[in-house]
Formats: sequence, structure tokens, C-alpha cells
Amino acid sequence: MKNTNPSDKDLGIPEIPMKKAIIVKQGQIRKDTETTKFVLVECQICNKTINMPIPRKIIEESPLPVTDVTYIHGNPKHALTAQLDKDYAVRRRRASVIISEKDYEE
Ligand SMILES: [Zn+2]
Repeated sequence: MKNTNPSDKDLGIPEIPMKKAIIVKQGQIRKDTETTKFVLVECQICNKTINMPIPRKIIEESPLPVTDVTYIHGNPKHALTAQLDKDYAVRRRRASVIISEKDYEE
């Protein structure tokens, strides 16, 4: 079906000014799948926005209205915990260092 409506450009209507865009490095954009939802979460350790994979099952099967999910990434590895609601909206996020038990084993 052809869209016959004139576009804003045709009508000389200026484009909507862009708000400060979330900058995602090329190649980082990942498409949602049937089993995984990708959410943008700011990581204070990387100092950038991370495309964090969320297995849908975790949110769907969570008995809680807001679920904590921790994503390990980066170099050196660190953790990014996001609190996600049932709509995958990030309610809170926090980045932290990882301490491994294996470094303290006798
Ligand atoms: Zn990070």
C-alpha cells in the first residue's frame, strides 16, 4: 500500500529537534530475539551505554515486580546490575567491581 500523505518535509515543517541522543558504538546495536531482550544501560565503569542482554524468561518468570539482573562484561571484567520492571524499563542500575572467591582459596 502506497502512503499518499505528504510528509513533513513536503509541507516545509521543520524536523523535530533531537534530544541528547544515547550514543551507541557501531556494532553494538543488537536486535531483540524471541528469547532475549536487549536494554540500554549506562555503565559508570565503562563510562558508556551498554546493550545488555536480558533473557526474557528471567523477567517473565520472576515473582517480583522489579528484578535484579547482573551482567558481567568489559576488560577488566566488572558487573553491571540493572533493576528491571516487567516492561524491561531500567528502574535503577549500578556498576561494581568483581571479587572472585578463587583469588582467596588456600
Ligand atoms: Zn561496564
